[in-house]
Amino acid sequence: MIPGEFDYTRPGDIGAVLRVLKEREGEAKVLAGGHSLLPMMKLRLSMPTVLVDLRGLSGFDEINETDDGLSIGALATHRQILVHPVIASYPMLTDTAGGIGDPQVRNWGTIGGSCAHADPYSDWPAVLLATNASLVCRSEEGERVIGARDFFIDSFATAIEPTELLTEIRFPKRPSGAGGAYRKLERRAGDFASVGVAARLRLDGGKIADAGIGLAAVAEMPIAATDAEAVLTGATPDEVTFRAAADAAAAQSRPVTDGHGPAEYKRAMVAEMTMRALRLAHERAAAFS
Ligand code: FAD
Repeated sequence: MIPGEFDYTRPGDIGAVLRVLKEREGEAKVLAGGHSLLPMMKLRLSMPTVLVDLRGLSGFDEINETDDGLSIGALATHRQILVHPVIASYPMLTDTAGGIGDPQVRNWGTIGGSCAHADPYSDWPAVLLATNASLVCRSEEGERVIGARDFFIDSFATAIEPTELLTEIRFPKRPSGAGGAYRKLERRAGDFASVGVAARLRLDGGKIADAGIGLAAVAEMPIAATDAEAVLTGATPDEVTFRAAADAAAAQSRPVTDGHGPAEYKRAMVAEMTMRALRLAHERAAAFS
C-alpha cells in the first residue's frame, strides 16, 4: 500500500512547527514515531498534504520530576520512559511502557503520539485517566492544559485542535501511601491489549482516601471506571471492596466482540484484571510511605 502524495518538512524549532500547523490547518499532520500514522497513511485512512516531522525538535522528550509531579515530554519514547531512573518511583508507568508492543515499537513510539492517536486499544490513555494526568497543548495562540478526563473524547478523537501540538504530559506527584499498577491481558506477548486496567489507590488511616481506575480496549474510547472509583473511595482496602469495585468496572465497560474475544469474555476479564491491578496497587501503596 502506498500513501497519497504529501509535502514533507522537518522544522528545527517549535515556532516553525506551529506555523505550519496554522498555515496548513486541517491538512497538516505531525509525525512523531510514525508507528500509527504511517500505517494509517498507507491505508489512506489519513491523507495529510503535509507531514511535519517532529524529530528536528530537541528537548521535547525530557522527563523531569517537578514540585508538582512528573513531567514527560510528548516526544519521549516508550523505551525512554521505561528506563528513566525517575520513573522507578512510578511503577504503574513502568508496567505500561514495558508492555507496549515489542522493542522496535518501544524504541520509536512516543507517549505523545499514543495519546494524540487515542486508539481505544492503546495503553497510555487508561493510565492517564487513572492518575488524573494533564496534557499540555501549544499553538501560536498559546498553551492549554487539559485534564485527561476531558482530553479523550471518542474513538481516535481527542481535544487537540488541528493547530495544536501536544508537548507534555504531567502526572500529579505521588504522595505517601499512594500506589498504582497497570495490568494488561494480551493474546500473545507484544499484542495490543484485549483488556487493560490501570488502578491507583491512596491509603490514609486504614481507608482508601482516593482512587482512580482507567480501562483500555473495552469501550469505543478509553474510559474511567467512575462507578468503581466511587466504590473504592472511603472503603477499607480488602478483597470484598476490590471485588465490588471490579464488578462495577466490568458493568461500566462496553466491550465489543472482535478478534480479541467475545464481549462477554472481555467483560469478565475486566473484573479479573481490575482485581489484579487493585491488589498490586494496594501492595505498592502500603509500601510507599
Ligand atoms: P505517530 O504514528 O507518529 O502519530 C500518531 C498520531 O498522533 C498522528 O495523527 C500524529 O499526527 C499524532 N501526533 C503524534 N505526536 C503528536 C503530538 N506531539 N502532538 C499532536 N499530535 C501528535 N500501543 C500500545 O499502547 N500498546 C501496544 O501494545 C502497542 N503495540 C503496537 C504494536 C505494533 C506492531 C505497532 C506498529 C504499534 C503498537 N502500538 C501499541 C502503538 C504504538 O505505541 C505507537 O507508537 C503509538 O500509538 C503512536 O505513537 P507514535 O509516536 O508512533 O505516533
